[in-house]
Amino acid sequence: MTKVLSGKEVADKINQQTQQVVEELKLIHHIPALAIVRVGEDPSSIAYETAAIKAMNQVGIEVESIVFPEDAPSEHILSAIDDLNENADTHGILVMQPLPESLSRNEVALRISPDKDIDGLTPSNLGKLVENDQTGLWPSTPKAVMELLAYYEIELAGSDVCVIGSSPVVGKPLSILLLNAEATVANCHIKTKDLTQYTRQADIVISATGAPHLVSPEHVREGAVVIDVGYGQVDGKTCGDVQYDAVAEKAAAITPVPGGIGTITTAVLAEQVVKAAWKMTKAS
Ligand code: NAD
Repeated sequence: MTKVLSGKEVADKINQQTQQVVEELKLIHHIPALAIVRVGEDPSSIAYETAAIKAMNQVGIEVESIVFPEDAPSEHILSAIDDLNENADTHGILVMQPLPESLSRNEVALRISPDKDIDGLTPSNLGKLVENDQTGLWPSTPKAVMELLAYYEIELAGSDVCVIGSSPVVGKPLSILLLNAEATVANCHIKTKDLTQYTRQADIVISATGAPHLVSPEHVREGAVVIDVGYGQVDGKTCGDVQYDAVAEKAAAITPVPGGIGTITTAVLAEQVVKAAWKMTKAS
């Protein structure tokens, strides 16, 4: 029977550990705190912010939201990031996407202090990821996938993994984390000529494209593990990249959407705020 890989169990375990560290920090009078920066009123950004605030509150992390109007000058946003970098009471900075056209993701990534970069987007943390240096802070969604694979004891060393999607936020850093775990990784994307050729060989297929229902039973070999990072809407219903019911019949294990990776991502964000706070406390 196909095993459903629930994200909630994984998130609960991470949250328990995070909460313990929060308690330890509070005993020495340090309250971990996250600052969220949002520009404009994009509904998906607001939904993600709401989920992040809930996840932080659940484990005792303080949250401050700084909201700019859509037409705010880039300098105002970057200067707010400078202030948060300097503020000793702020341990993590999360800048919500999408950003206005006038401000690139790269400009933001270069401005955030790597010590407070709890979504792992700065060049310094991405360099540490490539080096497999555990002092770094990782991009939260790729780390959420790794947490799920570890929790369900899915063997990575020597396994063939196909990651579909190669964005700098999900697919590319995830491929590196999998390589660090000694998997053999094929990273496919929109220009891949024959996607099925790669996915059918894989022990584990991980899809992070945002193309609803892209992964069909033809893409997956019997007994594969299928992880769906995609999050989209079709006819008002939330769905992932994978044709869940049909693929579940072939797969040994599969993540649901919702209730899979997304559930773990916010727990990972909280975990990384606490990691950053702990490091800063030790340094002070
Ligand atoms: P993106 O648009 O930046 O990148 C999409 C990637 O998928 C690209 O590399 C593109 O080449 C590839 N792609 C698109 N269509 C394809 C197709 N038909 N065949 C093969 N490759 C294709 O998106 P992203 O930010 O990486 O996000 C990907 C998905 O993951 C989205 O659905 C997003 O909502 C979701 N997401 C989920 C979480 C979470 O916590 N669950 C977090 C971040 C993103």
